[in-house]
Amino acid sequence: MQAENDKVVSFHYRVSEVRDNDDQGVEVETSRGRAPMAFLFGHGNIIPGLEQAIAGRAAGDTFDVTIEPEQAYGKRRDDFVQRVPKKYFRDGEHLKPGMATALSTRDGPRSVTVLKVGSSVVDVDLNHPLAGKTLRFAVEITDIRDATEEEIAHGHAHGPGGHH
Ligand code: ZN
Repeated sequence: MQAENDKVVSFHYRVSEVRDNDDQGVEVETSRGRAPMAFLFGHGNIIPGLEQAIAGRAAGDTFDVTIEPEQAYGKRRDDFVQRVPKKYFRDGEHLKPGMATALSTRDGPRSVTVLKVGSSVVDVDLNHPLAGKTLRFAVEITDIRDATEEEIAHGHAHGPGGHH
C-alpha cells in the first residue's frame, strides 16, 4: 500500500536544522523513543514539503529529505513581533529573553519566544520557532493503512500517534 490521499501513514522521524549543505544539522526533535507519528495523508496535517516527500512511499521505506522554509514553517516575518501586557502570560513574573512560553489569545494558547521583558510589558516573537529554517528530516515509514470514514470526516488520524 502506498502513501496517498485518505491513507493513515505512521512514521518515525528525526528533524534537524540545516545551516548549509555540508552541515549535518542540529537535531531539533525526534519521535524515537515514543510511538511513531500517525497522520491522515492529504488533509494538510503536516508541513507540505514532508507530505510531498512521503507521497508514494511504502511501509519500511527510509529516506532523508531537506525542506526549504517555504515548504516547512514559512519565512520569518519581522512584523510578527509584538508588545504584550504581562498579565496575558501565565508565568509573567518568570519570563526571560530567549524563553519559549504560551500566550493566551482568543484562539487559545499560542507559543511565542520572549525577546525583551519590561516592568509591565513583554516583547514577543509570534513566528513559529522553526520559521525561516531549512530542515532535514530522516524518515522511516512504519505503517500505512486505509483511513476510516470517521477519520476522513474529522480530517485527522485516530488511534496511537494520532488524535483522541
Ligand atoms: Zn477525530
